[in-house]
Amino acid sequence: MNDVAKKTCAHIQAIRTVKTAQRFECEECVKIKATWVHLRTCQECGVTLCCDSSPNKHASKHARSSAHPVIASAEPGERWLYCYPDDAFAKY
Ligand SMILES: [Zn+2]
Ligand SMILES: [Zn+2]
Ligand SMILES: [Zn+2]
Repeated sequence: MNDVAKKTCAHIQAIRTVKTAQRFECEECVKIKATWVHLRTCQECGVTLCCDSSPNKHASKHARSSAHPVIASAEPGERWLYCYPDDAFAKY
């Protein structure tokens, strides 16, 4: 496997327009009045959820339960994509 194949995957390569956060809050945390550390936006359905450093890890739970593989960072100034099943990372 070469370097490029290690970093990206077919899911990330298939993305043409990166979905960005509509609101800077985790939809699931807001419902249960929890707090989060960083936000991630699902590239399949556009939902913005919290990262794995957050207590509730809503983004990775969503990726597993919905089979939506790729998220983008929703943090201001961060421009990268991550694919959960492939553990693949790409800047855009
Ligand atoms: Zn992938
Ligand atoms: Zn959350
Ligand atoms: Zn989704």
